[in-house]
Amino acid sequence: MAKQSLFRSSRLRLSLWYAGIMAVILSLSGLGAYRAVIQSNWAALEREIESSAGTLHDSVEPLLPSNEETVKILQKIFPELCLVGQPCDLSPTLIQRHTIGVSDRSTYYIRLFNYEETLLGFSPNQPAELPATLVKTPWQTFKTEDGSRYRQFTILLHGDETGSSQANWGYLQIGRSLAEFDAENTRIQKILLIGFPLMLAVITASSWWLSGLAMRPIYVSYQQQQQFTANTAHELRTPIASLLATIEALQKVPPTSPEDANTLLSQIAKQGRRISELFTDLLNLTYIEQTLVLPLQRCCLNDIVSDLIEEFSELADGANFQLASHIPERSIDVMGNEPQLYRLISNLIVNAIQYTPEKGTVTVSLERRDRMAYLKVSDTGIGIESDEQKRIFDRFYRVNRDRSRQTGGNGLGLAIAQAIAQAHHGRLTVESQLDKGSTFTLQIATADG
Ligand code: ADP
Repeated sequence: MAKQSLFRSSRLRLSLWYAGIMAVILSLSGLGAYRAVIQSNWAALEREIESSAGTLHDSVEPLLPSNEETVKILQKIFPELCLVGQPCDLSPTLIQRHTIGVSDRSTYYIRLFNYEETLLGFSPNQPAELPATLVKTPWQTFKTEDGSRYRQFTILLHGDETGSSQANWGYLQIGRSLAEFDAENTRIQKILLIGFPLMLAVITASSWWLSGLAMRPIYVSYQQQQQFTANTAHELRTPIASLLATIEALQKVPPTSPEDANTLLSQIAKQGRRISELFTDLLNLTYIEQTLVLPLQRCCLNDIVSDLIEEFSELADGANFQLASHIPERSIDVMGNEPQLYRLISNLIVNAIQYTPEKGTVTVSLERRDRMAYLKVSDTGIGIESDEQKRIFDRFYRVNRDRSRQTGGNGLGLAIAQAIAQAHHGRLTVESQLDKGSTFTLQIATADG
């Protein structure tokens, strides 16, 4: 229960961190994108105003009137301009014809000032609250009482220098409403405000799912570790209990004859050996699994197999079964760790011998195909059911516990063999039929492969 909540809280922490980091990245990139869009819209808007002002400036400058009868002549150039102190006509103006067209009448407005900064005229759509005074800063943004914003550009107008008019004639102001720009701005803000929490919810959910995925192998490995510890304790308990029982019996009823004493002592020695073998196997397994890269050298599989056949042939003769081998003359070399390869192959041969009844045959064959070495250990023994075949490589797994115990097996032989094969980037597989026999195949790349 405690470990469940530990994994749950770790998963929660992991997903919150993930969601938090994603939220920061998203908000930074969202804000960046928002700023970039706003800035580019703003720059486009200013470019548009500036180019309208430039076009208008170039069009009206040659037509500018001299000082006298300014008002009359201005009315000729800008027939629709409202002149200060006179009634207004709302038909399209010169500025609209020159720059932006009739459709934009409500968007743009112009104002004309003389060089003494007195307002001469203005287009009828100019914001009502605009003061008649001139602010000469080229760019200006202002807000009217109803909250509408405007951007305005002021440009100097030069008169005809050959005539009586002065070089600097006055000022032209062209401005436009920022309503569209502000509306676009608000629209983006709304999308971000609604989109961000939605995205955050999706990210939180997916980070919870992802952290679950990430934790799963750790959880499985943790469970395996727990299982392994429990199995080790269980495996040790039996020989230790038996050892203690024998010693207690020896203490209670001391042996009367040297033969009895010898029998009891050899029982103690047998249990001691079992414990010692178990520890050796456990240490081997841990060493192979923890050593990321085993020290490798060129090894001749032919020699290893020949040595082992020789070693086990005496046992085979005694147990009354046949031990055969098919080793090719051409040597098959692999890059491997020789002691570990010896251990792997001998585990397979020992198993084949152990699980093959009298008069059976155990055959070890070696061949090379497509730059791969194939080592097969076949027997005509009891075989393994197909359901069990998947599990026999698990630590401490024994198909038939009682039988296995009789043979002295602790269920670690194939787990060690598999770990060694994997440390050599090889594959160890089994094919077996119940009561017919089994074939274990080690597939490993050759050294010159
Ligand atoms: P053990 O030390 O018990 O032999 P192993 O890991 O070597 O443990 O083998 C696991 C199980 O696989 C054994 O209990 C046995 O039932 C089965 N097994 C292994 N090799 C053979 C074989 N050649 N024939 C039949 N069964 C086998």
